[in-house]
Amino acid sequence: MKEKKKPGLSTIIFISLISGALLGVLIHYYVPSGYFKDTILVGGIFYVVGQGFIRLMQMLVVPLVFCSLVCGSMAIGDTKTLGKVGVKTIGFYLCTTALAVCVALATALVVNPGHGIALDAVEKSEVTAAETAKFADTLLNIIPKNPIGAMANGDMLPTIVFALFVGVLLAKLGGKASTVSNFFSQFNDLMMEMTMAVMKLAPIGVFCLIAKTFSEIGFSAFLPMLKYMGSVTFALAVQCFIVYQILLFVFTRLNPMKFLKKFAPVMMFAFTTATSNATIPMSIDTLSKKMGVSKKISSFTIPLGATVNMDGTSIMQGVAVIFIAQVYGISLTPAQLLTVVATATIASIGTAGVPSVGLVTLAMVLNSVGLPTEGIALIMGIDRILDMMRTAVNITGDAVCTTIVSYQNKSMDVNVFKES
Ligand code: ASP
Repeated sequence: MKEKKKPGLSTIIFISLISGALLGVLIHYYVPSGYFKDTILVGGIFYVVGQGFIRLMQMLVVPLVFCSLVCGSMAIGDTKTLGKVGVKTIGFYLCTTALAVCVALATALVVNPGHGIALDAVEKSEVTAAETAKFADTLLNIIPKNPIGAMANGDMLPTIVFALFVGVLLAKLGGKASTVSNFFSQFNDLMMEMTMAVMKLAPIGVFCLIAKTFSEIGFSAFLPMLKYMGSVTFALAVQCFIVYQILLFVFTRLNPMKFLKKFAPVMMFAFTTATSNATIPMSIDTLSKKMGVSKKISSFTIPLGATVNMDGTSIMQGVAVIFIAQVYGISLTPAQLLTVVATATIASIGTAGVPSVGLVTLAMVLNSVGLPTEGIALIMGIDRILDMMRTAVNITGDAVCTTIVSYQNKSMDVNVFKES
């Protein structure tokens, strides 16, 4: 008798995603508001299970990133290789983000999402003008005044810096610090084990999160915004399925379809949670187990990317700038468009990958070309769904870069990637 193949994690998460979304839409339209819907179902079961799952993932982030970075930099040992990996990664991140903004601007300039939109036809939300940190401070904040404080706050960049220091110096101390090195290695194994255990809950978590989101989304607000949403979605798809895959193929000759298939569960997780930060453990684990990417590299590049590389976010910002300019009847000069590319590229550096952060940094991009920040109110109401999509693109960009850097650094087991 032929043995029935067990469905893989991708399939199960996909089924949870679709069924959760359908249930959410049904609840939105057919279950009347009241104690059962609002308190028991949406605000109770879905909220507690969904958030509980995100918290479990978040719980792993700091200890996992710290230990795996210490172990990774300890294994690489010399600062020269580490520096080379760092420069290459940051260069790659900046270039892909600049490319992403160009894709977004080109799409928006063709589609003209803001033409024909009457200001009062769009549902506006309150904008709380967010304080954007000065770039100089963002740079300074990379050095932790208090590493424990940085870890306690979940600040990725200072945590990365401290972990790299610890790892490199442990390698230098060698046998003299073997107790500490062993401690970190074993703690790292423990964290990976915990990641796997938590990931088993992904289908249930994803189901509840997506059901809650869809039961609360006001679909009627989408209508006047369809052109804007379509432009963002199109540009995100181009970046994710064309730009990244061409880069992957050109630099590594690996099969892009295989990459996408293996990485799909992580993309779906990022989609449902809309946070790159919480996706870090799953990304590192998937890249290592399914694609043979060395954790020495991924433990550095993935958390770094979650903070500094947000291509999907910059795409939304590129389209939003054109949209807002068109709605307010302001035309932008080519020089202003270049300013948008530059500011959107640096806007995300130093901001954590958490839900809606892209709207906060959008204020900085709008300011750079003198557009009214109140324009953000126009797109806030429908941003959640775009946030979900762009987060999936954000983390895919990090993973593609990690795979390329790992391949070029000869720290990738290509046979693992080729296995089906
Ligand atoms: N939610 C996104 C992320 O975590 C950031 C954003 O665009 O708002 O990557």
